[in-house]
Amino acid sequence: MAARPAPYLDDLNPAQRQAVEALDGPVLMLAGAGTGKTKALTSRIVHLLAQGRARPDQVLAVTFTNKAAREMKTRIGRMLGETVEGMPWLGTFHAICVKLLRRHAELAGLKSNFTILDTDDQLRLHKQLIVAANIDEKRWPPRMLSGIIDGWKNRAWTPDKVPAAEAGAFDHKAVALYAEYQARLRELNAVDFGDLLLHMVTIFQTREDVLAQYQARFRYILVDEYQDTNVAQYLWLRLLAGKAHNICCVGDDDQSIYGWRGAEVGNILRFEKDFPGATVVRLEQNYRSTGHILAAASGVIAANKGRLGKTLWTAGEEGEKVRLIGHWDGEEEARWVGEEIEAMQGGTRGMAPMSLDDMAILVRASHQMRAFEDRFLTIGLPYRVIGGPRFYERMEIRDAMAYFRLAVSPEDDLAFERVVNTPKRGLGDKAIQTIQTTARANGVSLVEGARLCAEDGLVKGKGGAALALLVKQIGRWHGQVLDEADTHVELAEMILDESGYTSHWQNDKTPEAPGRLENLQELVKALEEFENLQGFLEHVALIMDNGSEAEGAKVSIMTLHAAKGLEFPAVFLPGWEDGLFPSQRSMDESGLKGLEEERRLAYVGITRAEELCTISFAANRRVYGQWQSALPSRFIDELPEAHVEVLTPPGLYGGGYGAAGMAAASPVLQGMAGSELHHKASRADVYNSPGWRRLQTRSQERGMSQPREARAMTINLEAVSAFSEGDRVFHQKFGYGRVTGIEGDKLEISFEKAGTKNVVGRFVVPAAQ
Ligand code: ATP
Ligand code: MG
Repeated sequence: MAARPAPYLDDLNPAQRQAVEALDGPVLMLAGAGTGKTKALTSRIVHLLAQGRARPDQVLAVTFTNKAAREMKTRIGRMLGETVEGMPWLGTFHAICVKLLRRHAELAGLKSNFTILDTDDQLRLHKQLIVAANIDEKRWPPRMLSGIIDGWKNRAWTPDKVPAAEAGAFDHKAVALYAEYQARLRELNAVDFGDLLLHMVTIFQTREDVLAQYQARFRYILVDEYQDTNVAQYLWLRLLAGKAHNICCVGDDDQSIYGWRGAEVGNILRFEKDFPGATVVRLEQNYRSTGHILAAASGVIAANKGRLGKTLWTAGEEGEKVRLIGHWDGEEEARWVGEEIEAMQGGTRGMAPMSLDDMAILVRASHQMRAFEDRFLTIGLPYRVIGGPRFYERMEIRDAMAYFRLAVSPEDDLAFERVVNTPKRGLGDKAIQTIQTTARANGVSLVEGARLCAEDGLVKGKGGAALALLVKQIGRWHGQVLDEADTHVELAEMILDESGYTSHWQNDKTPEAPGRLENLQELVKALEEFENLQGFLEHVALIMDNGSEAEGAKVSIMTLHAAKGLEFPAVFLPGWEDGLFPSQRSMDESGLKGLEEERRLAYVGITRAEELCTISFAANRRVYGQWQSALPSRFIDELPEAHVEVLTPPGLYGGGYGAAGMAAASPVLQGMAGSELHHKASRADVYNSPGWRRLQTRSQERGMSQPREARAMTINLEAVSAFSEGDRVFHQKFGYGRVTGIEGDKLEISFEKAGTKNVVGRFVVPAAQ
């Protein structure tokens, strides 16, 4: 067939062209961020089709997210114009496997209309199996079983293939439960996520005829982000690639960030062995980021030991240095980012005005999003959260809010329905129906209805007793709201504790549970900024209302994990503190594996930025009314100095608090205030500062770990004698004043307007003198 003119080849560099034009045999593109791997992969698909090498339905392309698949489709459509009919098989591993499994469901003992269970359904099934097997679910929680089974499925182990070394899992019962679970799924005509790949791998392994059919069909296979494939995905690809080996994989070992979910970076490193004779293309020119950004990212990732190592260069400008800024606390950080974004919209630092669509905030942990969301809502800055619900839409936040709503207004039937059996109180559908009927018959609220049911014994047994307790609690919480005996923050904590909601997540052993607890802490933190529960609930109601998708440009907020493959002219990377990023878990681990994965995440983060990259950290984060004092992230030390500009936070000089006060209050800032927050100097200064020494001695006395281990230690400000007599301070309710006496954690303060009062130290911040 005559080759068509190929304009899409013109904007590729020679190495990319090589990868695109090497149509036969295996191809590996192993190259750093922003070097045009995805672009080359897309061009390769276009080239295959334009050259008539394959019909669209003979091409199989795997992307990491559905979003990436959509974007690739659009680009291919644009490059091809109207010349080719139909579209390649293009999607995530899961999306493609669903399509295949529907065709061959009977080979997995399913009907083609099988349902795909979500994680909640999956968990419920595991729980049923555990209960049926008379296993103590407190000691052996269902979520633990789910984690084990997911892990095995990621490794493509069916129950009969689980190796003997794993037999001890879950008190030696996991393998049997796994087999039962699979049988149960078949009865239900259902699969879970892991099954999509597992069933297809099993079918390909056991049915040569089916495999041959697809090997013949998919003449060309392409895979983006290959460094993050797990074993099951890898096996599936190898089976499909068959003997023809027309497989093209692209990836970057430095961007492997899903090890915790079973991804094996070894897959990409082994490619040449798996597919002998592969054309290996290395790309070194980065087209995305300016010189300073690229150099900063390269500097950080260079600290990783286990890597291939690559050179990256750009023909572009040096651009702005990576900006680094430290803040007093997380709220201050969010406020500053909001102001920066508004300034950038108008054009700042000699840069052209920027659209909100061009800016992104990439966080390590999703609970960090709350401060930004709240701030942006307050100042009316449009934003979107990518790859997850917005903070106030999260399940645990909605549950907690429902409890608060009941405390404020026990007539809130919707809130009652949401939490009556969350955490589990042994109330089934039937009990809940009885409550509803009773309430309706008496013309009262559900809480009242529940009280009647409990009193009259309409709901019996354990459920009845739990219901009576809940009704009593709601009544008491409501009373406490009315007589304002406690602060609303204390009340909120009390509600979450007494209802059993906090311990519900504390007892939960799944990977998501810590994140949910952090979100709850974040919620309580948000409360501190409001006068009472009612005011807070109104605020959130307004937020949710505004939340309906408005048109127009928006700032993107997402986790670093969700940002893979994306790019933005301006990127903010907040929360670079030891214990948050790198995560506490990765620091606690023995060995470097976890820490190196965190560092790759840092590399992914910085390399998303095209023109402006801003890294920030806070010296304090407030958790349950306590200050958590943290050190700047160790990754900050690894940023090459020549490519970083250290900004002075407004809060330090002439800002709200005043340098002297801040230094007195925080050992971390004590080091920084005098050193203009120089990033290299900061850690050394911190260690040498009197505040830090004092803290170190105290922790030694208490037999705690060394603060220089950089654990984010929870300390009360008072614990380091933050205030002295004569200090000027600010209190949320009483305003400015001077400390006239100190006793334990209580301060006597002579307020400028409110007179002399005794207040708890933790509600006071230092103010300018
Ligand atoms: P990541 O590792 O982050 O996934 P990548 O290697 O897939 O990055 P791409 O997203 O394909 O990189 O490309 C990065 C940017 O560089 C894109 O904006 C792309 O359009 C541009 N680009 C890639 N190759 C070229 C080229 N030869 N000429 C001009 N621009 C290019
Ligand atoms: Mg890419």
